[in-house]
Amino acid sequence: MSLAERSGRERRLINAAALVERCRKCAIGSTRRRSVYGEGDSCAEVMVVGEGPGETEDLLGRPFVGRAGELLDRMLLAIDLPRESVYIANTVKCRPTFDDGQRLRNRAPDPSELANCRGYLDEQIEIVRPRILLALGAPAAKSFLGPTFSITRQRGQWYEGPLGIPLVATFHPAYLLRMTGGELTAVKRLVWDDLKAVRAKLYEVRANAPAAPVEQIDLFSSEAD
Ligand code: SF4
Repeated sequence: MSLAERSGRERRLINAAALVERCRKCAIGSTRRRSVYGEGDSCAEVMVVGEGPGETEDLLGRPFVGRAGELLDRMLLAIDLPRESVYIANTVKCRPTFDDGQRLRNRAPDPSELANCRGYLDEQIEIVRPRILLALGAPAAKSFLGPTFSITRQRGQWYEGPLGIPLVATFHPAYLLRMTGGELTAVKRLVWDDLKAVRAKLYEVRANAPAAPVEQIDLFSSEAD
């Protein structure tokens, strides 16, 4: 990846994030504290897509922070992908909430919010062009694969995602954090299987990828020539 290509991608991501920060297409655009566009390597091989920002993400303007984010970091590191090596985004860029009378609480994004925000996600995918898309949780997986997708039955299987990019889904780290005892052990095993599948697919697509063009550098020129 040339420096020019990398900086071009970073510039496009920054511009898109600024547009998102001004976006008010949905009502949650006015109730959120900060938009959460996404973050990570603009040339990442893996893009992780979650459902939407929660309370901590909304406060900090960053995706996957707090306990679920820490668990995600450990999950990725287990397959040799430090957080800074991937790109992390969500299906919606504003925190979906409802008012329970005392405070705003998290909820899943509704279909109109998903539809309104889809263009931003598609643009991120187009800019970063990851080799693999990893959807976390049923809402993120359904946003790519349709409303009938079952996270319990269809996680860990490969699908063709946007731009033909291989896509797989697994459980959301927040779901794991809600589990205890034997249930947690069983779900952890499934997630580990899915993560190993991501690592294996990454090796496979790397092996099949055409060699990147090498930037021409004149190694032998010098002032003295
Ligand atoms: S969720 Fe997306 S489309 Fe809706 S207001 Fe926020 S940025 Fe705009």
